[in-house]
Amino acid sequence: SPLLKIEDLVVSIEEKDILKGLNLEINQGEVHVIMGPNGAGKSTLGNVLMGHPQYQINSGSINFEGQIINDIPVDERAKKGIFLSFQYPEEISGVTVENFLRTAKMAISEKFISIMEFQKELKEKMDLLKIPHDYKDRYLNLGFSGGEKKKNEILQMSILDPKLAILDETDSGLDVDAVKIIYEGIKNFSDGKKSFLVITHYNKILDYLNPDYVHILVDGKIVTTGDVKLAQDIEKMGYENFKKQLGQ
Ligand code: ADP
Ligand code: MG
Ligand code: MG
Repeated sequence: SPLLKIEDLVVSIEEKDILKGLNLEINQGEVHVIMGPNGAGKSTLGNVLMGHPQYQINSGSINFEGQIINDIPVDERAKKGIFLSFQYPEEISGVTVENFLRTAKMAISEKFISIMEFQKELKEKMDLLKIPHDYKDRYLNLGFSGGEKKKNEILQMSILDPKLAILDETDSGLDVDAVKIIYEGIKNFSDGKKSFLVITHYNKILDYLNPDYVHILVDGKIVTTGDVKLAQDIEKMGYENFKKQLGQ
């Protein structure tokens, strides 16, 4: 059975329908990419999967590992193995990267992890992302560059070790070198058993990640699903022409 199964999902914010009957199935080990024009509902999908309370599910269902999770709070979803990166991570002053990540890991795993044990894991994972070790003592996101914030998201993902990682434009606004490190970090983390839902505008992703499916989300619905070629077609013709071709 699929890891995630979304059926006929209708979601609104402040009385306005944003997702309008969305269907999606993700199996263990699959990489799915979602592309689509601005305002299509991509971030809404990520937020509603994570359980953000601002979004209202009007109908349809989100099934994770065989259980309907429509009404389950964010922290319970995290414990089940769902992770969402943040498009604009906030600064949390007074909390170091190490403390933040260790606290989050203990909360999600519901286990005590000693500082020594945690530091060992943290250093290994920082090395994979080419993050200097003194970074762990910095205050979370305080004065971080765009690239550092994004690397921190990937570090957080690899520490929390989710079953389903939803990455919302983790690659946007980065230089080519940073994008490469980010995607190598994702590839390292993915051992063929992890599932990914990657929201992106960036076609380069396809050079680094080898997605099983590319979905095009337009006006609250997935209008087409294909493979890497679909992303290349979109790049060439743009979303407007693509919509016309679909008769929309
Ligand atoms: P995308 O990520 O595809 O660019 P979003 O999911 O962010 O699209 O937004 C989809 C639509 O929902 C947009 O019209 C946006 O203005 C609206 N929307 C998103 N979040 C909110 C919010 N918190 N309050 C009101 N409207 C929102
Ligand atoms: Mg957007
Ligand atoms: Mg968005």
